[in-house]
Amino acid sequence: MRKVSIFGATGSIGQNTIDLIAREPGAYDVVALTGGQNIARLAADARRLNAQIAVTADESRLGELREALAGSGVEAAAGTRAIVEAATRPADWVMSAIVGAAGLAPGMKALEQGATLALANKESLVTAGELIMRTARQHGGRILPVDSEHSAVFQGLVGEDMSAVERIIITASGGAFRDWSLQEMARATPEQAAKHPNWDMGLRITIDSASMFNKALEVIETKEFFGCPHSMIEVLVHPESMVHALVGFKDGALMAHVGPPDMRHAIGYALHWPDRRKLPVERLDLAKIGTFTFRQPDPVRYPALRLAHEVLEAGGLAGAVFNAAKETALDGFLARRIGFLQMAEVVEEVLERLVASQCLKNAEMTLDTVQETDHLARKTAQEVMAEQDR
Ligand code: NAD
Ligand code: MG
Repeated sequence: MRKVSIFGATGSIGQNTIDLIAREPGAYDVVALTGGQNIARLAADARRLNAQIAVTADESRLGELREALAGSGVEAAAGTRAIVEAATRPADWVMSAIVGAAGLAPGMKALEQGATLALANKESLVTAGELIMRTARQHGGRILPVDSEHSAVFQGLVGEDMSAVERIIITASGGAFRDWSLQEMARATPEQAAKHPNWDMGLRITIDSASMFNKALEVIETKEFFGCPHSMIEVLVHPESMVHALVGFKDGALMAHVGPPDMRHAIGYALHWPDRRKLPVERLDLAKIGTFTFRQPDPVRYPALRLAHEVLEAGGLAGAVFNAAKETALDGFLARRIGFLQMAEVVEEVLERLVASQCLKNAEMTLDTVQETDHLARKTAQEVMAEQDR
């Protein structure tokens, strides 16, 4: 039986992972499941999958979790430290599906144990790409991409050498506002941004899709994971969300990965890798679909993409600044403190204030320096938003 743990088990990726695991009773020995506020979901899944331990990020809800698990034999724990500790429990395969920078530390811990890390938490690569790739190498751990575009590129590279690759194209659905004018986007509400046309995902990534911050994170993720120069990475708007990525080779060939917008494909690929197994995803009827369309993303409506390339140009801890500023600006938008387009303004201002500073330039990348940079960028983003309030 394969030992598996799922970090962020109660979220959209976590639930899709559990869906796949629960279809094969007896194949998996579930070690740890972690969640946040949804104690009922966490406890029900931990009971159903007979997990060793269930951990909630919220310390104030430990009593509730204990009660929900009473008599089940499943251990209960709470808090950020308990989540990282759960990642030290031996597991063969670990799903990293916490949202945000909070996913970095448990993922690092799992890699230090030599586990295979299925990485949905793109923030890990954006904030600490070099560190997490190095940690995997040093401890014999392996990272498998779960973001659909990166899984698609990874699959396109099987049997190929990176030296034969000329370009990597990742697609973007365009999110909720792909056909909106700049003026309309300026007045957009969180409710409007939370409606994704194609994918059913967590709230934060859905809003990041509307602003293209999600694609900006993914450009950085591509560079960090595949180790290619960022000038090789292109983004195309593809409203149908069926071609997830294309790899362009030296001989002019483009290998496209085509599939329905269902994360269980990428999760299942990472779960069964290097094998391919039958997965419960829709089989596309291309004759019925008829056409795929592609267009260039509008740089005026989506400044996040330009910022991603600036971050990669700066290198080092700039990714940690970018991600933390973005997370804070998103909180500001959700709280109706700033407008939709102001999110990019806040992030750009934070990058300007912090990335040029000498201390960031010379700092070595460790979990501590990444976390310090993250805190500094969040504080700076708060200051920028407070100045805008005035
Ligand atoms: P979600 O909001 O649905 O779930 C997030 C999970 O993280 C929940 O279990 C929640 O309890 C937990 N969590 C939140 N804050 C936490 C904290 N501070 N500490 C510990 N746990 C915390 O998010 P999601 O859509 O499943 O996305 C998860 C990750 O996967 C993100 O990094 C996202 O960018 C990435 N991703 C998601 C999709 C998708 O289809 N949903 C696709 C590609 C990549
Ligand atoms: Mg993606």
